[in-house]
Amino acid sequence: MKPRILIVYTGGTIGMIEDQATKTLRPFDFTHLMDNVPKVKMLDYVIDNIQFDPPIDSSDMSPAHWQDIARAIASNYDNYDGFVVLHGTDTMAYTASALSFMLDGLEKPVIITGSQLPIGEVRTDGEENLITALQIAAETDTDGRPMVQEVAILFEDYLWRGNRASKRSADNFNAFRSSNYPELARIGLGIHYNRESLHRDHGHASGMTAHYNLDLGVIGIDLFPGLTETSLRHMLATPGIKGIVLRTYGTGNAPTAQWFTDAITEAVQRGIVIVNVTQCADGGVHPRRYLAGDILSSTGTVSGADLTFEAAITKLMFLFGLGLSPEEVRRRMTHTIAGEMSV
Ligand code: ASP
Repeated sequence: MKPRILIVYTGGTIGMIEDQATKTLRPFDFTHLMDNVPKVKMLDYVIDNIQFDPPIDSSDMSPAHWQDIARAIASNYDNYDGFVVLHGTDTMAYTASALSFMLDGLEKPVIITGSQLPIGEVRTDGEENLITALQIAAETDTDGRPMVQEVAILFEDYLWRGNRASKRSADNFNAFRSSNYPELARIGLGIHYNRESLHRDHGHASGMTAHYNLDLGVIGIDLFPGLTETSLRHMLATPGIKGIVLRTYGTGNAPTAQWFTDAITEAVQRGIVIVNVTQCADGGVHPRRYLAGDILSSTGTVSGADLTFEAAITKLMFLFGLGLSPEEVRRRMTHTIAGEMSV
C-alpha cells in the first residue's frame, strides 16, 4: 500500500514568484510549485492537495485560515496517512501552535514547512524541505503506526514540535528553533528521530476531534523600560478583551512601581486572564525568584512557565473559544494540552 499524503498549500515564500512590475515576491499557484519539484515523483506516494485560493503571504494568516486548515485535515483525516501544510515562515509557529490545540487527539503527522527562498530559485531550500516533510509524513514505526503523531515544523536540519518552535532567523535556512524542547528529529544523511521527545498517546486517544472555535479577545503586551501608565491602562482597557499574554523580563519580572501593580491587579479583578511569559528566547518564568516577579505574581497573573509567545496567545484563543470561565482558563493555562509547556 502506497502512503497517502494530503498537501494543504496555504502560500508562503516556497511557492512565490517575483512580480515583474514591483520586483517583490508574491504568492503564486500550487502547479507552479509542484512543476519545480519533479523529484516528488520519485516518492512512491499517493499525493493529493488542497489549495488556498488565493494562496497568501503568511503575514495575512488569521484564525479563520486556521479553521480552514483544521477543516481540511479533519474532513480528510481517515483517508490519508499524513498531512503536509505548506506555509509562509513568518507566522508558521502561530499556525503550528493553534493547530496543535485545535486537532485534539491527533495521531497522525501534520508536518508544516515552507522555505526562505522560492522554489523557482536555484539555491532554494524549498525542494529539500518539501521532500523531507513528505517523507516524514509517510514514515511509520516498527509497529506500523505513524512515526510522528503531532503537529510539527520541518525546516532545514530539524523537525520541531510545532507549539515549541519560533521563527528565529529572517535569513538563515535553519530559521526555526525550539529552545525549551529537544528536536523531534535531526535531518542529515538520514532522518534521525528522537524517540524520547516524540509525542505518544499511550493508547488513551479515542480518535481525533477538531475544535474550530477560537476567541479573538486576546492580545499581547510587551514590557519595555519607558512604558507609561497611560499606554498600559489603554491596552488593559481594550474592549472585549478576555486574555493577555504579558511578555516580561527574564524569569518573569516586571516593574514594581505602584501604578503598574495597581493597573495589572485591577485588570485581573475585572476577570482578565493575564499570562506571564518571558521575552527571553530560552528558559521560562520563575515568578518567585525575584521580588519584581513575586510582586507581579501576587497581582493574580498566571505563570506561562516556558510557553512560547505563539503558544500562549493561541492557547488563550483556544481555551476561551471552548467557552470556559476565566477561572477555568487560568487553571488550564498551567497544564499542558499538547506538550506545549514543561510542567
Ligand atoms: N513573508 C513570507 C511568508 O511568511 C515569508 C516566508 O514564507 O518565508 O509568507
